[in-house]
Amino acid sequence: MATLNTLFHEHKKRSLIVSPVETSIFDLLKCGPGPSSSHTIGPMKAGYDFLCLCREKLPEFTQKPDHFLVRLYGSLSATGKGHGTCSAVLAGLLGHSPEKCPAGLLKNLGNNPDEHYTQLLGDIPITLSLRNIIYDTVVHDFPYNNTLVISLMDMKGEALFEREYYSVGGGFIQWKGWKAPEFGKPVHPYQSMKDLQNRLEETGLTLHELLLDNETAITGKSRVEILQYLDELIETMIMGVKRGLSKEGVLPGTLNVHRKAGVLYERAKTLNIFHERFLTNLNAYAMATAEENADGGVIVTTPTCGASGVLPALLYAMRYDMHIGDRAVREGFLAAVAIGFLAKHNAAIAGAEVGCQGEIGVASAMSAAMLTHARGFSAEYTANAAEVALEHHLGLTCDPVGGYVQIPCIERNAVGAVKAYNAFLLAISEDPKSHRVSLDSAIEAMGETGREMNAKFKETSLGGLAVSMVNC
Ligand code: SF4
Repeated sequence: MATLNTLFHEHKKRSLIVSPVETSIFDLLKCGPGPSSSHTIGPMKAGYDFLCLCREKLPEFTQKPDHFLVRLYGSLSATGKGHGTCSAVLAGLLGHSPEKCPAGLLKNLGNNPDEHYTQLLGDIPITLSLRNIIYDTVVHDFPYNNTLVISLMDMKGEALFEREYYSVGGGFIQWKGWKAPEFGKPVHPYQSMKDLQNRLEETGLTLHELLLDNETAITGKSRVEILQYLDELIETMIMGVKRGLSKEGVLPGTLNVHRKAGVLYERAKTLNIFHERFLTNLNAYAMATAEENADGGVIVTTPTCGASGVLPALLYAMRYDMHIGDRAVREGFLAAVAIGFLAKHNAAIAGAEVGCQGEIGVASAMSAAMLTHARGFSAEYTANAAEVALEHHLGLTCDPVGGYVQIPCIERNAVGAVKAYNAFLLAISEDPKSHRVSLDSAIEAMGETGREMNAKFKETSLGGLAVSMVNC
């Protein structure tokens, strides 16, 4: 009974924390190279940020800088090899940001572990090499699992300057002493789906209009700029599916995983039963992006790299199989963003924090919401579709075999896409008022399940399939 009371009070305490969603679309959805937002995009941003800082601080250094040293901790150390973390930090220190990362750069860097590179700080050449990036301890006392410490060293091996970075999921980074940047405040503040639905009722706005109002207020960008960015993201996702469908061969790493998206796509053309053809295509679209991601291709974090195949699959099917117009697709995409915001705000979206439920589960929920909204259903139906998709991913662990975002990740994207479609079908088939589980409850359950989940199931490759498959 004592335990139940404690749980109840913890739950009450959490319910009383009120802070509105203030994340921007530009922060949640980023273009960058795969295979992992927390292990590739985040570390790359950290490397790039450190380089810029060193350039700023150069006049303050009393000794001549000589080389960079990077230490990876936690899940970055456990699975960084398979996720290309070292190449990503190196690319950042070489002056590449994720959005502008040239195709194939990370692969090239990874293929040349003994190569030494030079980066200029002012007119001082600084040495860089993969050999200066160290896989440190998996168990540590830093406040975040995915921690990396980047140091600028002098010739004697003394640190002139260093920063402790945290890759907190979805490509977001923070550092020791980090303070949330000051943005504008949302004009329609909400913390939960319930709040959001109240704001919609009060204002008479649609879900996508409300999101656009808030985005304008938070970022200070015009509607045109925001819509342009959304269209760019949509086109990046469509191109990712197309690229993936057209490629064949074996993915990088030791697992010998063959690309399958193109095979499925061709097979779909031979199927006469409509629903078999549609579902096989949906699987193919999801795997196309997931395979691109595994190969270090540029994807959009929806909401992460590992889960980046789910939403583009639905998007592609909406455009080319369901023939939904571009405007409705974009409006649906904004509904998906709302679900991503809520999941990130009230739980987490990183496999290293809450397991795969936070990646594929959230991606599936976002996709279900996108389709439901784009098909013209109300916000109530949209929330229920997202809830159904998330509910049936609760407890899903993150156990990438060998640390590669391939098994189970690629097929998991396909299953997440099909579940999203099914969640849409289930949600629109019932009176939304009779739906018993709220999206807020499902997100809360995901957060709690993630906090209780054993660390070995959170992107360390120390449990689940990552162990049983390797041991067989
Ligand atoms: S198992 Fe899921 S959470 Fe883990 S790396 Fe793969 S897609 Fe991401």
